[in-house]
Amino acid sequence: MTWPANTTRDHLCDSDAAAGFEITDDFARFDQMNDMFTRAMWDDTVKSPHTDGFFASYRMEAAPRRGEGFSQRDFALRNAAWLVSDIISNRGADKGLREGFQGAIENDTPVAPMKADLGTAAKESQEIKRLARFFGADLCGITHIDPRWHYTHRPDTKAMKPVPNDLPDGLTHVIVMGHEMDKTLVDTYPSALAGAAAGREYSHEAAIVMQLAAYIRNLGFQAIASMNDTALVIPYAIKAGLGEYGRNQMVLTPEFGPRVRFSKIFTDMPLDIDVIHKLGLTTYCQDCTICADACPPKALPKDGPKVGSDSPSTLKGVKKWSANCEACFGYWAKIKTDCAICMRVCPFNHHSKGTLWYRIATSRFRKLAQWWAVRHKPDRMKPSTWWASR
Ligand code: SF4
Ligand code: SF4
Repeated sequence: MTWPANTTRDHLCDSDAAAGFEITDDFARFDQMNDMFTRAMWDDTVKSPHTDGFFASYRMEAAPRRGEGFSQRDFALRNAAWLVSDIISNRGADKGLREGFQGAIENDTPVAPMKADLGTAAKESQEIKRLARFFGADLCGITHIDPRWHYTHRPDTKAMKPVPNDLPDGLTHVIVMGHEMDKTLVDTYPSALAGAAAGREYSHEAAIVMQLAAYIRNLGFQAIASMNDTALVIPYAIKAGLGEYGRNQMVLTPEFGPRVRFSKIFTDMPLDIDVIHKLGLTTYCQDCTICADACPPKALPKDGPKVGSDSPSTLKGVKKWSANCEACFGYWAKIKTDCAICMRVCPFNHHSKGTLWYRIATSRFRKLAQWWAVRHKPDRMKPSTWWASR
């Protein structure tokens, strides 16, 4: 895609500092052929009977087993929660397009030929946020489009080869929406049951992002609905002011901590962008290793942020905490479901904005909050407790 006409590299780089991004000269855009899910489909160093079994489990093939949280009922709920998302992502299978994951969601409605009369950019931004909530989003922020975060290529999932990942010219803004995952389900990670929290939000966000994009197209502006496809959503969510980057590789939000999924819309609608405020969440992570300590394959770093790694699945040229993606996905493949232990154990999953603990954790007295959090780690909820709850 071409650089948007009304944005400049300097403008984007200015907000890097506010977002806490340190980008080095060897930065390179990410090729989606190298993300772990895609590599598990073509890279023989990743693909294995375990990874094949992981994908097959979403079709109920030989996944249920003894062990609480991994019964046929647990997998059944997880797979049912994914259903709407699966319908969208599978409808372009013949074209090698896995919408929402390995390709943007195709426009189901055209852009109206007449542009609606708009109010100011500030007013329209407020209206977009109100409608995001109306459709069911829990968070919404807006930022400039930034091609650095866009994948160089996406996989053609039929031929399993890289194809261009182009968006139309003229797009200027990205609307980022956050979708809260169910806390009680997240509290049962690791389990197939817990995967229903992820699946339910993917299904929700598919509907929400498509509906809001259709609204914008009906106003006469371009709107490309996107989930995990097309661009890295983490830098966009941070630039849209929704949270800060955590040691567990997730965006920590004041409202839900890391327990949130994100979707996005690329548009040319004139909008105001959100201001990035320092929240103190990344600062807290600097002296906390609860997630890294709890990770079964020890895939999370315990030391400070670094630039890159040897893995092709790590973004190059950005100073940040990076997981050992191979070890992490290897664990997912072994248990035949997603793992988010590092989400469950994070204190910001349990204590949101407004609580006393949160206020202390994001203040200069954070060491007190860290001391308390280490001594009061909530236990994992048993899946049988979740099923028995009403
Ligand atoms: S998802 Fe699980 S395996 Fe991966 S980094 Fe988090 S705790 Fe570790
Ligand atoms: S567990 Fe601690 S280090 Fe990990 S993301 Fe949460 S606050 Fe940060």
